[in-house]
Amino acid sequence: MRKPLVAGNWKMFTVPSVSKELAAGLKSKLAGCGWADLVVCPPYTSLTTVISELTGTSIDVGAQNLHWESEGAFTGEISPQMLSDSGCKWVIIGHSERRAIFGETDDGVFKKINAALKTGLKPIVCVGESLEQRDSGVTEEIVKGQLLGGIGQLNISGLTIAYEPVWAIGTGRTATPQQAQDVHRFLRNTIKEKWGQEKAESIKILYGGSVKPENAGDLSKKDDIDGFLVGGASLKADSFAAIIETLK
Ligand code: PEP
Repeated sequence: MRKPLVAGNWKMFTVPSVSKELAAGLKSKLAGCGWADLVVCPPYTSLTTVISELTGTSIDVGAQNLHWESEGAFTGEISPQMLSDSGCKWVIIGHSERRAIFGETDDGVFKKINAALKTGLKPIVCVGESLEQRDSGVTEEIVKGQLLGGIGQLNISGLTIAYEPVWAIGTGRTATPQQAQDVHRFLRNTIKEKWGQEKAESIKILYGGSVKPENAGDLSKKDDIDGFLVGGASLKADSFAAIIETLK
């Protein structure tokens, strides 16, 4: 049995005062949530505010990115140690916005996962195809390449995978539950081939891409969907909590 996990990616939204208010809202709405593991990933400048607001609750805090070195002359970057020392427990790695806008590669994803694991951070590793790739029928090839390129040399234990079709992120267009299930099942089979049955059954695979309270229930009924990585709808306590309610 895989306990559902829901992570909120706040992207480059919310100044610290707004983050604090959002975290306080989540704290009151989700205090009794025992049925899912919960993570919120605010921007760096809000991390300490949100961590202190959520200390003592069951909601963990994560970052949206990290650098693979522990320190050095890397202007503008944040190291795994800095995150861990601030109280972060999770980190999103390889989000499609980082791949598409900031040129992140599978090799960089590999280094970041490796560094995160060594520091005790729990990575949520994103994979997903573009619309063009889906339309050309290469979705499986793309997600398999990202999975093996980023993780292939590592022990997959301790990782969470997020399948996020790029065409569904922030577009309001969600994959149908069956489209998502098909890719989740394919990813789980790929994990089984590479790391074995036990790992394949224990690794959580989240779906991300315009998840809202209205579509979360149907998506979550699918066997291989173990929760969600939520962008836009995680910026309001009401909608994030309503998504989590569907997993009850
Ligand atoms: C995301 O940022 O990972 C995401 C899935 O965004 P949205 O829910 O807004 O599509």
